[in-house]
Amino acid sequence: MKKVRSGWAACNPVVRLSFAGPMLAQMPNSAGPQPANPRAEVIATGSELLSGKTVDTNSAHIARALQGIGIGLCAVTLAGDDELLIAAAMDRALARSDVVIVTGGLGPTVDDKTRMAAGWAVGQPLQLQPALLAQIEARFARMGRPMSANNQQQAFIPAGALAIENPVGTAPCFAVERGRSVLIALPGVPRELFYLLEHAVLPWLAARFPALGAIHARVLHVAGLGESVVDAKVADLERLANPVVGLTTHAGVVDLHITARAANAATAAALVADVERTARERLGAAVFGADGTSLATVALEHIAAAGHAAACVEQGTGGELGRRLAAARSGAFRGGALLPEAAAGADTNALLDEALAHCARMFAAPLALACVLHATADALQLGVALQLPAPAAAQRFVRSMPLPSTHAAEWGANLALNLLRGQST
Ligand code: AMP
Ligand code: MG
Repeated sequence: MKKVRSGWAACNPVVRLSFAGPMLAQMPNSAGPQPANPRAEVIATGSELLSGKTVDTNSAHIARALQGIGIGLCAVTLAGDDELLIAAAMDRALARSDVVIVTGGLGPTVDDKTRMAAGWAVGQPLQLQPALLAQIEARFARMGRPMSANNQQQAFIPAGALAIENPVGTAPCFAVERGRSVLIALPGVPRELFYLLEHAVLPWLAARFPALGAIHARVLHVAGLGESVVDAKVADLERLANPVVGLTTHAGVVDLHITARAANAATAAALVADVERTARERLGAAVFGADGTSLATVALEHIAAAGHAAACVEQGTGGELGRRLAAARSGAFRGGALLPEAAAGADTNALLDEALAHCARMFAAPLALACVLHATADALQLGVALQLPAPAAAQRFVRSMPLPSTHAAEWGANLALNLLRGQST
């Protein structure tokens, strides 16, 4: 258990020694040597996640965060606010994984079951943690409000658990071991979860599993090539063991993730750079940026460098294209307009012509961009067009998409922005 103690103390300013000290003394001394490739899983609790009212974004965030330190998730379980179900999920997860992260259910109300379930799963009674109680009391004193018996309940965590101070919220969190495995209970509120992961949990896990070494990750953004085309061009890279290369697809943009693990940061970065060079050679100008670059920013930089400026007119898109261009905060964007929805049975090419003419009338911009979206009986018609200065003809694309298509406006905006970037699709 010494490793855990020094991990919290050395890496994590959130868990203060004075606060965590007495609780650390109660942690079972059973952790032993830790594996080089730990298995981790998530249990997301909350009945709202199962009714479809709330989408479980916490698991995806934890997956990305753990991936960043070289730990892959092997399972995610959703469990309603049912103590026995949560306890059974914890029991199963602790039996097969080294790290189990539980989110939600730490509040003061009857539907908050995580504390009881954790006690059951690790075979420990809940014990009052005086430091946690003092923290809760201090918070109520600061707010000038009386503390209820329910709030006192939050100071009870499994015997031997380490309390994790939560400076950004009200739910007291904890970590508790069973054998070599550790269960970490974190808040359901995404903002609090993200903070505690970054400031407390990740540094602690990195210290607990020193063999993980350093991780370096990079994401290349690709537009104008479909996922299957990108996949075919980098298929051999996707079979590499280190770096790991993978694709994620959004509407009209493909992301190529390159993640390397090595003994030190410089070696990991060099491994990534090598694969990035090969990927860029294969994908050419379809790669428009890396690590979060916006397609709108790249497109506007491209036309600004050529001494141009652009405006846009769109229809049926909710203003997605104009919003994206405006967010790039570039002087090369002269403005955008949203036309009323098209009449039933409209012709997409005619709508594009009208939108381009409207753009020319409204904005004194040398480049006019149009994006129209309208439904027919059984499909969605998407059209994008770019009018370059005369006498060049407008470049345009018209596509048909099956209904329902929730990302059609995003598709349209990405197609239009890629045209503006000087890349035909
Ligand atoms: P809880 O910590 O269980 O009281 O949850 C507090 C709030 O956080 C809930 O009302 C949800 O809005 C949100 N929440 C809980 N779990 C998740 C999750 N897995 N993903 C996204 N939001 C969540
Ligand atoms: Mg809940």
